[in-house]
Amino acid sequence: MNLSDMRRLLASRDLQLTKSLGQNFLHDGNQLRRIAGAAALEGTDRILEIGPGLGPLTELLLAGAGEVTAVEKDGRLVEVLQERFLGDDRFHLIHADALEWIREEERDWSEWKVVSNLPYSVGSPILVELALAERPARRMVVTLQAEVIGRVAARPGTAEYGVLTLLAALRFSVSSTFKVPRECFFPAPDVESACAVLDRRPALELGPGVASAYVSAVKAGFGQRRKMMLKLLAEVWPREAVEAAMTGAGVALTERAERVSREQFVEIARRLAGAPSTGNHP
Ligand code: SAM
Repeated sequence: MNLSDMRRLLASRDLQLTKSLGQNFLHDGNQLRRIAGAAALEGTDRILEIGPGLGPLTELLLAGAGEVTAVEKDGRLVEVLQERFLGDDRFHLIHADALEWIREEERDWSEWKVVSNLPYSVGSPILVELALAERPARRMVVTLQAEVIGRVAARPGTAEYGVLTLLAALRFSVSSTFKVPRECFFPAPDVESACAVLDRRPALELGPGVASAYVSAVKAGFGQRRKMMLKLLAEVWPREAVEAAMTGAGVALTERAERVSREQFVEIARRLAGAPSTGNHP
């Protein structure tokens, strides 16, 4: 589906795009193939696509994978997609708000791949929700604002490093990122875009309560970037427990969260998971 196909389809249905739904459609064949290629599709793959729009990526996903489940919020686009892929029983279309749907869906995603040009306004929470799922996908190939992708792939000690980086990093590592130029979208968005490939880390046995302690420690630790992490975590757990956990993880008690690595946060969370909490979880 190229730009003329898209314009024709939109005009034939008198469809006006909705900016608040992030309706910037990808029409550049090279970029679409690059994104689908990053998913390394196999005939047995099950793919989750959030926000299929008019279906330019869906088409490539269906060509390479076993089945595609797509979640689209806009009922007008749901109609278009139903017509476009009518008769392909490997295509499952869900008309829903993807964020709400993912939160309610207690699916085992461990054999799935996520490939999506995400709606930018809700892209980060959707990514976090998928990354923190109990049984997360094998691989996620997500296109978002370049600034958000920069935060997902950030290194400790940089301004971009923060909550999004660490929540995504608990179970995933970023294998690669690449830019997707504005002119590849219709209409061209106001911001630059990029795509990131995230691969699930090898089995990570965290133990009971560790993942939630990790999420709380990350959110609390970055509550105020300029403050020492010790003070911020001591609002959630007893100060002595936080001191012992930080020392055990090799983190200086004067350190700020932006210099603490994912591995150190995991170690801190392991040590705090059993500690009584003040109930002030962020
Ligand atoms: N994948 C298509 C493409 O690459 O051309 C469309 C991507 S467009 C950036 C985002 C799509 O997400 C739009 O189709 C929009 O209607 C849909 N969308 C926006 N908010 C959504 C939500 N909360 N849940 C599901 N879909 C949503």
